[in-house]
Amino acid sequence: MSYIRLRGIGVSPGIAIGEVFLTERVIFTSRKESISPLQTAEEIARLKKAIKRTKEQLTEIKKQIKNKMGKEHSFIFEAHIMILEDKSLLKSLEKVIKEERAKAEWALSQVHNKYQKVFDSIDDEYLKQRMSDVSDVLARVYRSLEVKPKKKKDDGKEKILIAHELLPSEAALRLSQRSVLAVAMDMGGQTSHTAILARSLNIPAVVGLSNITKIVKNGDHLIVDGTDGEVIINPPPAIQKEFISKKRKYDDYREELKKTTKLSSLTLDSVRFFPWANIELPEEVNLAFSLGAEGIGLFRSEFLYLQRTSLPTEQDHLSVYSRLAREAYPSPVYIRTIDIGGEKALPQFKIEKEPNPALGLRAIRFSLKDKDTFRVQLKAILKASSLKNVRVLIPMITELEEIEEFKIIFREVKEELKKDKVKFDENIPVGVMIEVPAAAAITDILVKEVDYLSIGTNDLIQYYLAVDRSNEFVSYLYKPLHPSVLRLIKYIIDIAQREGKEITVCGEMAAEPLSAIVLLGIGLRNFSMNPIFIPRIKKALRSVEYKSVKKVVQEAMNLKTAQEIEEYVIEKILVKHPQAFLMREMS
Ligand code: PEP
Ligand code: MG
Repeated sequence: MSYIRLRGIGVSPGIAIGEVFLTERVIFTSRKESISPLQTAEEIARLKKAIKRTKEQLTEIKKQIKNKMGKEHSFIFEAHIMILEDKSLLKSLEKVIKEERAKAEWALSQVHNKYQKVFDSIDDEYLKQRMSDVSDVLARVYRSLEVKPKKKKDDGKEKILIAHELLPSEAALRLSQRSVLAVAMDMGGQTSHTAILARSLNIPAVVGLSNITKIVKNGDHLIVDGTDGEVIINPPPAIQKEFISKKRKYDDYREELKKTTKLSSLTLDSVRFFPWANIELPEEVNLAFSLGAEGIGLFRSEFLYLQRTSLPTEQDHLSVYSRLAREAYPSPVYIRTIDIGGEKALPQFKIEKEPNPALGLRAIRFSLKDKDTFRVQLKAILKASSLKNVRVLIPMITELEEIEEFKIIFREVKEELKKDKVKFDENIPVGVMIEVPAAAAITDILVKEVDYLSIGTNDLIQYYLAVDRSNEFVSYLYKPLHPSVLRLIKYIIDIAQREGKEITVCGEMAAEPLSAIVLLGIGLRNFSMNPIFIPRIKKALRSVEYKSVKKVVQEAMNLKTAQEIEEYVIEKILVKHPQAFLMREMS
């Protein structure tokens, strides 16, 4: 029998072998049923009832998930309730019913399309993925328009879940209720809820497969390889054998890593390092700490804007930041002010399309232009700081004047809070991201103005090497070990240390074992990364001796190319510490 291999994006590592369980796709009907003007009030009442029912359902599911899977997984339902309560959403739906004299189903499909168009125009993959929350809520209201939604029976057997797209609430429900061996979907990306959830529950997942739902049928036999992003349909025995052995190896590796999470973050010669987590959703905090994080080194606050259709209020910001501070306490939480604008366009802001979004009105540039929105965020960060573990991090700083302007606003916001007798951390540390080469070149000037620095290597490398970080045609040039990049990073780290200021790397470079070892050799101690990579980085750094790494890296930095540097470091470190790269090819 012939078999099929499909390539997708591996978003949760591990291998599963089992039988297919195909889920139904949620489709909004697009047939327009007209109603008379007199019926519109009745239709709006029907819609409101469905919204009320949906809210009751969500509240109940939230309770269930909280009991079964813990609070961190129930938070998403809170976000969904917030979307549902958003006044502008109801207004848009009512408008369609009234103006088009159509039924509520039609209004839901039209409003869904409207949002889909806006989200489709966003280039940022993470932000794009948040459309699934809006779809999820609208689909739920849609189903609630029918008084008795149909329920499907589940036979309780362990299976591989196949879906076009698992809406976030569906993912939480399904992954909590039945034994799901793995997940494979047509849609989705690294930062979709399903991906985050699957990672936190250790369920292998491959997404972005385009049309797997059209190829497989219930009962088919499947291999899902979440590490390499591959799905094999009806594999012959030889291939199954190969994957059974790969699975065994991976499971052993996982066990080995698990042990690492509880061990101290020390190199062989007892140099202390700090593995921190980059997160995008508050529900990732517990996962991060369970994987060995010792702090939240980067909270990308942009997500807050995508959980709703209107601007988040101060209270919306505050409830998220307070939760982060509370759950991470006494460890630090670095809240980065919004990095939006440019290619990370948001539906709430009408930003002109820019010819060069990566060089456009982004991050701090945007915040300083829309000061009212910025003040709302800063106020909430300050209000959440009374436990004294919150830090403010400003993205995309290019020149000193931006820090000065920030400080004036920050001072004013602090004064307002004092006047209102609100408690906050008056000495809350403020730091900047070094991710624009111009800022890197004046590190000596900027460092004096702030409490700490954080190097955003994702952007710094993109701008320094003039290589778009998401353009596959030039990705061969994107080299963290390029001698120019290492020299620049060394320059920044040396200055920060000379001035006695804390310095972190929070780009993906910190998550790759070889680069992390090189950064250690340069002098770095704070490594912030996607939480799933913490165990392997901890394992790599615990396997080396700082003293010898420092010497090897010093020698390597005299070499001429990234390849020479890579080969030299691997050769020298491998001889001394073979354990250091054990984890490289596995994850
Ligand atoms: C970076 O640029 O390295 C960084 C951490 O920020 P982001 O990936 O969110 O742009
Ligand atoms: Mg960046």
